[in-house]
Amino acid sequence: MLPFKLVYSDAYYLPIGKHVFPAEKYRRVRDRLVATGIADVGDFLEPKPATDEDILLVHKPEYVNKLKTGTLSLREQMELEVPFSPELVQAFWLAAGGSILAARQALTDRVSVNIGGGFHHAFPDHGEGFCMIHDVAVAIRRLQRDNKIRTAMTVDCDVHQGNGTAAIFAGTRSASALLPSAGALTLDSLALNSALPGKIRGAHAGEVFTISLHQHNNYPMSKPPSSIDVDLPDGIGDDDYLAWLDNALSSGLRQFEPDLLCYLAGADPYCKDQLGGLSLTIEGLKKRDELVFRIAHARNIPVMVTYAGGYAQKVEDTVTIHCNTVVAAKEVFGVTK
Ligand SMILES: [Zn+2]
Repeated sequence: MLPFKLVYSDAYYLPIGKHVFPAEKYRRVRDRLVATGIADVGDFLEPKPATDEDILLVHKPEYVNKLKTGTLSLREQMELEVPFSPELVQAFWLAAGGSILAARQALTDRVSVNIGGGFHHAFPDHGEGFCMIHDVAVAIRRLQRDNKIRTAMTVDCDVHQGNGTAAIFAGTRSASALLPSAGALTLDSLALNSALPGKIRGAHAGEVFTISLHQHNNYPMSKPPSSIDVDLPDGIGDDDYLAWLDNALSSGLRQFEPDLLCYLAGADPYCKDQLGGLSLTIEGLKKRDELVFRIAHARNIPVMVTYAGGYAQKVEDTVTIHCNTVVAAKEVFGVTK
């Protein structure tokens, strides 16, 4: 048995037909985890769909109504980049329910992994880039509403910038009250590491502090400011990436003490990803997971994990990277149990 829970449902499958997004990856991760003995069947929890009330904590009523009545405009459907269907709506409501469950579990078990979710390109009033509903934001807002947490930090390691996350939490900033030191001044300390390729930008921070580490020359074209954005140049490898991640996490955690860390463990910084342009290896990606977990573990910050993107030429590689995230959590969080 794992010392924490994995959240999964067969209904996470996204009914999008033949698509660069490997919708079957969730089931394949689950099967591999069980087949290799990394997890056993008792480690998995089955989520319930989020309620409409939960979804409305983040998304605009007009948008939710369009999704539920199938009345998105053609342009809105195109922007989503996955074919709209009522079944797809259900899958996204379920992913959000899964992230709520994983966030709750993280508060009791210190870590929990949603074998799904991480749809960080969804905005309050529209979806884009394969993301209809921002499951992580819904989970944060629901736990805040339930008074389970006050603050949260998102650590987004998908190769694409977390534009939806940045937009959703930009409106909640209260930097002056909570974070006298937040902002560009503090980030100047990162200039110490100017030998590294890449660029770090700082913006707002409030009850939710957002960190995004992403390839600069990639989707989305317009990148609304996160609390910390690390704009990475094309092609950087494991060592530079890990150094930037360490920097960003250290800087973020100097400025902000989250009650929950939401880690988006995207598999697409991988060197063989079809939609990514960084050069991380499978081993480097596992070290990335370990780094996030070790820092959270040392500071006693509960971690909720979602998977976000992953478009390796071989789906097997995406599955390996996602399974390794569970292995890394087991290695880091298994020791004290
Ligand atoms: Zn991505």
